Amino acid sequence: MTTDFRQLPSVDKVLSDARIVQLEQKFPHLLLLNQVRRQLEKSRQLIAAGKPSPSLDEIVAAVSAGVSSLEKPSLRPLINASGVILHTNLGRAPLSKEAIAAMEPASKSYCNLEFDLDTGKRGSRHVHIEQLLIELTGAEAALVVNNNAAAVLLGLSALAKRKEVIVSRGQAVEIGGGFRIPDVMRQSGAKLVEVGTTNCTYVADYEQAVSPRTAALMRVHSSNFKLVGFTHEVTMEELVASGRKCNLPVLDDLGSGCFLDTTAFGLAPEPMVQQSIAAGVALAFFSGDKLVGGPQAGIIVGNKELVAKLRKHPLARAVRIDKIRLAALAATLTHYLKDEATTRIPAWRMISAKVDEIEKRAKTWAEALGGRAEVVAGESMVGGGSLPGGTLPTRLVALSGGGKKGQSVVESLASKLRHRDIPVIGRIGENTLYLDPRSVLPEEDEIIIKALKNLSSDLKK
Ligand SMILES: *Cc1c(COP(=O)(O)O)cnc(C)c1O
Repeated sequence: MTTDFRQLPSVDKVLSDARIVQLEQKFPHLLLLNQVRRQLEKSRQLIAAGKPSPSLDEIVAAVSAGVSSLEKPSLRPLINASGVILHTNLGRAPLSKEAIAAMEPASKSYCNLEFDLDTGKRGSRHVHIEQLLIELTGAEAALVVNNNAAAVLLGLSALAKRKEVIVSRGQAVEIGGGFRIPDVMRQSGAKLVEVGTTNCTYVADYEQAVSPRTAALMRVHSSNFKLVGFTHEVTMEELVASGRKCNLPVLDDLGSGCFLDTTAFGLAPEPMVQQSIAAGVALAFFSGDKLVGGPQAGIIVGNKELVAKLRKHPLARAVRIDKIRLAALAATLTHYLKDEATTRIPAWRMISAKVDEIEKRAKTWAEALGGRAEVVAGESMVGGGSLPGGTLPTRLVALSGGGKKGQSVVESLASKLRHRDIPVIGRIGENTLYLDPRSVLPEEDEIIIKALKNLSSDLKK
């Protein structure tokens, strides 16, 4: 086999092609030159691998597609019809209108991020949110960082480096995306001391493990998994009492973190931040973009001296939050303060949506598909590592793929919906594509109905 590179056009030949010359009106020469070189290098690799040499037309088309895709934003909005409300891969919590609006003034001009307007001297970025968190949780002090993984890492680094932290064996979990409690502990320099058995841990297990090197007792929310059957975990009240007895702080990684009582929405109880503080934890850690329903953030609330210690730690600077998300988080927290979370915060609007409203919307969606779909009962998930196993009843639009080739028909329908200007993401089950209105805001129905009408006319062709 010959590897013939001679058929490849030269860089100059591609650059002087009329179609590339036209692109020069829109893109700098150097960018086009780099793209041409890259395409020619790819072509050389293809030839070396025994493939035929790409034609000049193919190379020009690839260069043109390459520069256009650079110009188009890669991060795009989409419609989440998967039924998973806090979908980590789809960006977790959508923000409220007020939170979105709050980001504009914070980013458009300068702001008093770290500037005290009373004294004219340097201020702290934490003051903008601390009072809100104190009010909502009853804690003495608060601190906000980049995300909850960073919050936990900061907490352990500042309080337990070269010391031991006692955790129940059933809570030494991996919460997905590679975040494993034992690894985070190691990274912080703290030594994890696991106590109890996988399914049962008692107060005595913690107390027997306390040594002069112990820095804290810690609870970790099991987030995405649930132990069922014969199990026992120590309650937060018991753990705090035990901590007092041994003169040790109790740290609480709540994971999602929640301000509202989830049982009021037919869900299992999710530990609430206020409860942890009332029980007497020294520090509680939770995410801004899970059940709080705000931007990505890691929130730490609790004891004043400990929060001050965390603030002074060098890592605090490395994981600090930016002004734009700080503004969005403050606006989100204000919804709780005004008792309007379920009407303003998208994640809570979705959680509290009534099944009959969802059914009405599902029927309208199904109609857009021209009788090819049916509305069936199903379940939505809260997601985001909250409420393991917890689901909400819903109505799904089910598009069956039909007979033998069903699965590939379903894959192709899902792919068509994903490749729209505003992609629509469903959930694929056995031979069926499911679309759940619960994780779609009613304001977005128009977009999805248009997508489904198009899909329906495609199917008729
Ligand atoms: C989600 C979660 C984290 C990580 O939070 P991020 O905000 O995603 O960094 C940490 N701990 C627990 C228990 C979680 O559920």
